[in-house]
Amino acid sequence: MTDLPPSIDSDRLDRLAEVAVRVGLNLQPGQNLVISASTGTLPLVRRVAAAAYRAGAGLVTPMLTDEAVTLARFTNAGEASFDVAPGWLFDGLAAALDQNTAQMSIRGDDPMLLAEQDPAKVARQGKANSIASRPALERITRFDVNWTVLAYPGTAWARQVFPHLTEEEAVASLAEAIFAASRVNKADPVSAWTAHSAALRARTDWLNGQAFHALHYTGPGTDLTIGLADGHKWQGGSSTSRNGIICNPNIPTEEVFTTPHAQRVDGVVKATKPLAHQGNVIDGIEVRFEAGRIVDARAKSGEDAFKKLISIDDGAARLGEVALVPHSSPISQSGVLFYNTLFDENAASHIALGQCYSECFMQSDLTKEQVASQGGNSSLIHVDWMIGSGEIDIDGLDANGDSTPVMRQGEWAS
Ligand code: ZN
Ligand code: ZN
Repeated sequence: MTDLPPSIDSDRLDRLAEVAVRVGLNLQPGQNLVISASTGTLPLVRRVAAAAYRAGAGLVTPMLTDEAVTLARFTNAGEASFDVAPGWLFDGLAAALDQNTAQMSIRGDDPMLLAEQDPAKVARQGKANSIASRPALERITRFDVNWTVLAYPGTAWARQVFPHLTEEEAVASLAEAIFAASRVNKADPVSAWTAHSAALRARTDWLNGQAFHALHYTGPGTDLTIGLADGHKWQGGSSTSRNGIICNPNIPTEEVFTTPHAQRVDGVVKATKPLAHQGNVIDGIEVRFEAGRIVDARAKSGEDAFKKLISIDDGAARLGEVALVPHSSPISQSGVLFYNTLFDENAASHIALGQCYSECFMQSDLTKEQVASQGGNSSLIHVDWMIGSGEIDIDGLDANGDSTPVMRQGEWAS
């Protein structure tokens, strides 16, 4: 194929597609696949389709968005347009997931695409999309099927990450960073992923054995106690979805994560990296939690966007995920701010506002009501933000308040 800019290595992009299908999805012969992506990532979409058919896929169906079409709406559409979402399309995706179709998302969009647009319209269309896509998102967060998310070095994204380089150099640098973090530079990427998953599994086994009641974070601007949901389970690396297939939902991944208790988070926390969300860069976030809810929120920039985000619904001001990542992780050591959660969340310990992962519980097949009664949060959003650094200590607390070191200066304590 000649669809690739010369700054992206074709062989390694092929290997990324292969890793996405074999490690990310573990796609089974005869299984169908839906790929959600934007037109800026088509070179990878096409290579994934080829790899999927080589692995025996039934049918590969791309669901594409286009940045120019998105902007055309903001420039030309009437007011009423911003509350409209393609519910029929998301319902179709939910129906496909119910038929054991695997799902892949490819990220590579311009993180600043909507930065110049009316924030009220951006928020309205975001909310309309969140509501319409909820049935599909629920099936994904519940792991009904094998799914994965990975990234392609889109041009506008590359320029945002490496503003001092020429366009060609920026794309080449972002491609390098993605290939390295996704472990496709290794001679045998599939075995490299197997070893990496085993190391993450050793961490989750230790944390699950400890069964902490809460985690206590201390560091500059941070003194936060995060209660963990009753019967929570730590996950990391590969996941077994309900259709019995072991998949790796994030490429790359460095985190172990679980479900916090929506009512038991107290104290103050300061973000350690900017949060890029729907075309806004929200920097210098500082919040105070009381009984699980954010009661005071500030940011050096993008404070309005952050306040809008946490007021979408009641669960948006509560936590749905807590994740641990050592400061020495390769993505952290790259020192690059990616303006993309898939990468930035793997550079630092983080928390997420909003919807919890219902598979982060010891007991499987919990109803929504059971998840809620054990402390699992529910919301239209799930937004990760980074609170880890080389200056953060974390202790695990048992029900009596006795503590065990978990991380010291951003690294695993044992
Ligand atoms: Zn996470
Ligand atoms: Zn998350």
